[in-house]
Parts: sequence; structure tokens; C-alpha cells
Amino acid sequence: MKIIAYGIRDDEKPYLDQWSKDKGIEVKAVAELLDESTVDQAKGYDGAVVYQQKPYTAEVLDKLASFGIKSLSLRNVGVDNVDADAIKRNDIKVTNVPAYSPNAIAELAATQLMRLLRRTNTFDCKIANGDLRWAPDIADELDQMTVGVIATGRIGRAAINIYKGFGAKIIAYDIFHNPELEKEGIYVDTLDELYAQADVISLHSPATKENEHMFNDEAFGKMKDGVFIINPARGALVDTDALIRALDSGKVAGAALDVYEDEVGIFNTDFGSFDAIPDERLKNLIKRENVLVTPHIAFFTKTAVKNMVQFALNSNVNLIEKGSDESQVKF
Ligand code: NAD
Repeated sequence: MKIIAYGIRDDEKPYLDQWSKDKGIEVKAVAELLDESTVDQAKGYDGAVVYQQKPYTAEVLDKLASFGIKSLSLRNVGVDNVDADAIKRNDIKVTNVPAYSPNAIAELAATQLMRLLRRTNTFDCKIANGDLRWAPDIADELDQMTVGVIATGRIGRAAINIYKGFGAKIIAYDIFHNPELEKEGIYVDTLDELYAQADVISLHSPATKENEHMFNDEAFGKMKDGVFIINPARGALVDTDALIRALDSGKVAGAALDVYEDEVGIFNTDFGSFDAIPDERLKNLIKRENVLVTPHIAFFTKTAVKNMVQFALNSNVNLIEKGSDESQVKF
């Protein structure tokens, strides 16, 4: 058996090599993404492992199938960039990695929340300028606060465990209730109740058409004055203009954003200087001492990257050998 892996980054390569050695299966690592210009390299392989934001086009998928490759394993969760018609037409089986390390995301959420509460950004700036005074930057303590967690899936639950460790009171909202958390009585029935009670709101829901810009002017208006917002979920959940207005008015005391609605093509790029970042709204946010922007790095840990590579390879082997895998995606 031989597998080809596209878009392999330097940080992924050691985990791929280790897996190949342990399993005794040949894996060809290709740095380029899978497209019309690289697909021919897959000839002679039994399966392909991939990860990219650019589309997996019908032309590419037709070609893979014509080479006899019917096993495609994504190293990430989302499959919206895969041409579904071409998948069905060619009977290609596709897997994803639905959970590679919920803790990776939850730990960044908690880290950034603590940085906001302890005003570390402000103190870093003051200290760099020789200002070693305390006032007026007095901190809040998480154990005195109520954290409202929106969505109690894998990441939301990992975040709850960490926030609990700090002694925070937790309330949560989800369209489906987790039975264990239900027993603890932490769910509120409506978002409005969560907005009214939470000192911190930690967002962990997927983005759908229905909840696009769920944090808009109206939602911010229902939140407590001085609320802290943590969003390591999806940029589309937050109306950026409304957030800027809420920061300007002081309604929102601080925000930690690992995602941004216009992040594609901007995050994970080196522009060479701050001024060269081609997005004025993003620069407006980054410049604020009470806003912490990170370029979608929550998943970027050794554990998560290792799992993304090795889970995808394991799934690819199952597709090739058995024609099925528990992470198979329905199209
Ligand atoms: P999951 O599928 O385990 O859980 C999602 C939860 O959201 C479920 O409990 C579901 O019932 C709930 N939900 C769905 N729609 C909802 C709505 N409208 N309101 C409230 N709850 C709703 O997902 P997960 O693995 O916990 O991922 C959560 C989010 O984190 C996703 O948006 C995902 O894209 C994002 N994510 C970000 C990174 C990063 O690097 N920043 C990495 C992985 C995942």
C-alpha cells in the first residue's frame, strides 16, 4: 500500500514520518496543495491525504478517480471546499478528523481570558516604556465571575473544565443539552438569559446561516456592561462593526479573537509590517490594548497537529483496506 499526502508542512512532516515507520507503510509527502497542476503526482498511489482551503475541484477529483484513487482523507474538519457532485459521481470515499484536540482550543481561550482579566497587554506596554506603576489597571478575578459558555460540544466542554478549575461560576447555552452537564444544572434556556448573567462569554458553536452575526448590536445591547468576549470558534459569529462599537462604548471590556470574519487570505500570511496588513478593521482591533487577536492558532499545538496527520492516515488505510471508516463523511 502507498499513500500520497499533499500540502505537508514542516511541522507535520515528523509525525508523518513516524507513522510511516511505525506502520511500515510508504507515504509520499508533497509540499504543494492538491490541484490541477499537482494531481498527476498521485498516479500509482492507493489513497490521498490532504488539507487545504482552496477547492478540491471536479477536474482534480475526476482525475484521482481515473487513477483508481477512491480514498481521500482530510486532515481537518470542514469539507465545504470538496466538490460533492464529483465525489458522488466517482464514488470517492472521504474522511475528516472531527476532533484532533479540543483542549488545544480551550487552553488558548482560557489563556487569553486570563490575559484580558489581568491586563497583561497594558502592563507589557507600560513596562516597555519604563512605567512600573499599578494604577489604574486593576484586574478582575475569574473566581468571582460568571462565565457563559455558548455551545457545549467537545471544545465547549473542555473550556468549561478549565474555567471551573479557576473557580468560575459556569452557565451554558446549547441547542442540544449534554446529559452530564444537564445533571449539573448549568444550562439556561435562552441566549438572552446567558447574555443577562454572564461576565464573560466564551463562544464555541459552529457557524451556520442561522447564527451568522449572532453577536450584533442587539445582542451586545442585552449583555452586561463590561462583558468580556472570547471567540476561538468562527469569525462569522461576530459582527465586527458591532463589536468595534461595543468596545468604543465600553459595553465590551475586552475581547480575545482567534478567528475573524474576513480572515481567509490574511491569517497565516507575513505582510512584513503592521501597516501592510490589508484590513483596516482588523488593524483597528489589533491596536487596542483590551483586544487580543491571534491568527487562528488555537489548533496549532504539537498534539493537535500530530493527531490531524496520524488520524487522517489511519482513516485512509481503513478506506483502502475495508472501504469504510468511522470518520467517513456523507455527501
Ligand atoms: P462540536 O461539534 O463538538 O460541538 C458543537 C456544539 O455546538 C454542539 O454541542 C451543538 O449542539 C452546538 N451548536 C450547534 N449550533 C448551535 C447554535 N446555533 N447555538 C448553540 N449551540 C449550537 O464542535 P467543536 O469541535 O466543539 O467545535 C466548536 C467550534 O470551534 C466550531 O466552530 C469549530 O469550527 C471551532 N474550531 C476552532 C478551531 C481554532 O483553531 N480556532 C479549531 C477547531 C474548531
